Amino acid sequence: MIKLDDRLIQISRVNKKFSNWSKVFKCEPELFFMVENEDDIIKIVELAKRYNKNVRAIGAGHSPSDLACTDGLMINTDNFNKIIEIDLENKTVTVEAGIRLYKLNEELQKNGLALSNLGSISEQSIAGAISTATHGSGINFSNISSQVLGLTLLTASKGKINCSAEENEDIFKASLCSIGALGIILKVKIQCESAFKLESNQFPMRFNDILNDLDSIIDSAEHVRFWYFPHTENCIIWKANKTTKESKPQEKNYFRNYIISYQLYQFLLYISRYLPSMLPLLNQKMFNYNFSQEKQFIDDSYKQFNFDCLFPQYTSEWAIPLENTKEALEKLYDWINHNKENVFVHFPVEIRFSDKDDIWLSPSYNRKVCYIGIIMYRPYDKPVPYKKLWAEFEKIMRSYGGRPHWAKAHTMTTIEFEKTYPKFKEFIKLQKSLDPNGIFLNSYLKRHLFDQTDVKAKL
Ligand SMILES: Cc1cc2nc3c(=O)[nH]c(=O)nc-3n(C[C@H](O)[C@H](O)[C@H](O)COP(=O)(O)OP(=O)(O)OC[C@H]3O[C@@H](n4cnc5c(N)ncnc54)[C@H](O)[C@@H]3O)c2cc1C
Repeated sequence: MIKLDDRLIQISRVNKKFSNWSKVFKCEPELFFMVENEDDIIKIVELAKRYNKNVRAIGAGHSPSDLACTDGLMINTDNFNKIIEIDLENKTVTVEAGIRLYKLNEELQKNGLALSNLGSISEQSIAGAISTATHGSGINFSNISSQVLGLTLLTASKGKINCSAEENEDIFKASLCSIGALGIILKVKIQCESAFKLESNQFPMRFNDILNDLDSIIDSAEHVRFWYFPHTENCIIWKANKTTKESKPQEKNYFRNYIISYQLYQFLLYISRYLPSMLPLLNQKMFNYNFSQEKQFIDDSYKQFNFDCLFPQYTSEWAIPLENTKEALEKLYDWINHNKENVFVHFPVEIRFSDKDDIWLSPSYNRKVCYIGIIMYRPYDKPVPYKKLWAEFEKIMRSYGGRPHWAKAHTMTTIEFEKTYPKFKEFIKLQKSLDPNGIFLNSYLKRHLFDQTDVKAKL
């Protein structure tokens, strides 16, 4: 029986179940804590050491895998979310680890600042986003971890460690994408830039036309991403550049955006569970209805980067070397459109680009990458078949030098990681020295970093 002091009793809950955003991955931590400050977290880590329990910090719980799960002590960081300092002169912000990106975006905007790049949503906590190298799109833009100037890590063996490019550089490069394996991130200093607007242009294009002109398309704007609609020839391209023009935000149309594109679409996806062969037609109709017209908007950067990801989904995403993009997409297209196994795929297949970095476990470590992501929605939280698609997708991604997104369930083994990440063994050595008893290792980490269980178990 774990003994808690008065403060820990006050912030703890028993029988609190955790499930991630898509409700696919669940766990029942022995104790769940709503922390408010560093002292709370230090006490919980001491507790984990004393009782030899696994301890896991979570942000928004958005990771589409069991990465955030634990049966030990779970630390919810939602109330550990203050802005510690904004330095207007150097355009930096220092925050507590649990701050959600949407709150950070708003606070930065009030101060005339912004993050340079974001992913599709801003629900994530800053620590969750950097722990998994969350990325957006733009071949000359790196992931969110790369925007970090320094952080404070609470470790098991060495207590609090400040790290940056100037101080404890190895720990810094390792902790910028450390999937919770090295300790708990307490605070983060981020390089921002002056607030800016983006002018976006979204338009349809044929899949083959994109592939035939891929290199120039990737370079044709600061931020470029495209979506392929499986079982059709259609894509939409989204390009965005900085602008000082007057805002022209996207208008919300209740009927189009909510009734048709959300409610009716979800219902039809539900029907397709019994009639999967209707999916090619559904993809085509949704494309015709929503995406066949050119659209242009001008708005604050963070509003333009983000979009509505609709409903819970299975998702898989891998980063391949940029030069392999065309061949890998052709392979995937062929399989989706000609597979003999009656596998039908939801839209979109999302294609994004990211610059290289020097973060040890970043999928874009030392190489410019194309991220390819697939999804299968779970209409009304109901399961849909996805395993054959996943197996084939992973096979293709592996054959083109892919590294999986750390947040998203995958079957990459420790031996494969050793081969693809030059710094993998150094990361493991550091992990063992900062966490000799493995209190930060949950089953995801044991499975993928330490080869301890069957990697297919969680797909
Ligand atoms: C709808 C949707 C859209 C997405 N879009 C994108 C996208 O555009 N680009 C992209 O790259 N990814 C995307 N993701 C993935 C998402 O960015 C990552 O899963 C991210 O880690 C989620 O942040 P979180 O705060 O929910 O972290 P959690 O899921 O809560 O945690 C993720 C990891 O971070 C660790 N962690 C959290 N807080 C701390 C801390 N204080 N110290 C140490 N470790 C910590 C956790 O232990 C866990 O290992 C998307 C996910 C969803 C569901």
